[in-house]
Amino acid sequence: MKLDGKVALITGAASGLGHGIAERYAAAGAKIAIADIDADAAKRAAAELGGEDRFIGVTMDVTDEAAVNAGVEETVSRLGTVDVLVSNAGVQIVHPLEDFPFAEWKKLLSIHLDGAFLTTKACLPHMYRQGSGSVIYMGSVHSKEASPLKSAYVTAKHGLLGLARVISKEGAAHGVRANVICPGFVKTPLVEKQIPEQARDLGISEQEVIERVMLGGTVDKEFTTIEDVAEVALMFAAFPTNALTGQSLVVSHGWYMN
Ligand code: NAD
Repeated sequence: MKLDGKVALITGAASGLGHGIAERYAAAGAKIAIADIDADAAKRAAAELGGEDRFIGVTMDVTDEAAVNAGVEETVSRLGTVDVLVSNAGVQIVHPLEDFPFAEWKKLLSIHLDGAFLTTKACLPHMYRQGSGSVIYMGSVHSKEASPLKSAYVTAKHGLLGLARVISKEGAAHGVRANVICPGFVKTPLVEKQIPEQARDLGISEQEVIERVMLGGTVDKEFTTIEDVAEVALMFAAFPTNALTGQSLVVSHGWYMN
């Protein structure tokens, strides 16, 4: 599947899954805005992909409406438009519910949900004007399943399914579609950080966190890879029709099947 000349804006693309999607989209011919709160890492990642006529680093805190609007405008003015939005920036914060600090709950929901809302709101006028666009949210198996300690994350990831379905209905008349990718555990910095935290909170070893908590439900005890997720992101972005709009796809080695 190809994205020749298409412009993709990917949030949280300085690291992990977003970075892998940027590499896959680059190989498929896209122009890419790497948007991240880590400005230096975003610019570095864009420079590593190649020249500034195709790859730009954009500083963006997805919870800040002015920063999101400015980043989308910069993308459109430097790369021409925005055809694909991958709203991927995210964090994980784990606590038992009764100890979950309210400020951390709000922070997590804001990055995942305000981030998806604000980036979508800023990109839609450009997509509507050209009569086409693809909005892709990075959900999770936790868009469909729950785990202890992850009340804020599970709530946010479930919420993205609803937002994508509304965009599918509102965007259809303008040729804009929406999808959610729902990965299982992928070894990125976000997951590496969770291993000792969950071991502490659940009172088990780090090895048990990996074998029981993270991979216990898979059919083959394997982590999902960045490449697996990037391939699905390419499929949703490059799919030739709007037939898949509103759908989510679980990529989890059988951890969750639906
Ligand atoms: P990661 O920590 O490697 O990358 C996250 C990126 O988001 C970082 O570059 C970070 O700087 C950026 N970011 C954080 N807050 C931001 C903000 N306010 N504005 C802009 N950028 C911000 O994590 P990852 O594992 O690649 O996670 C990416 C997405 O994938 C997240 O939404 C996460 O919930 C989701 N996800 C990850 C896994 C997994 O196992 N790794 C599984 C399912 C879903």
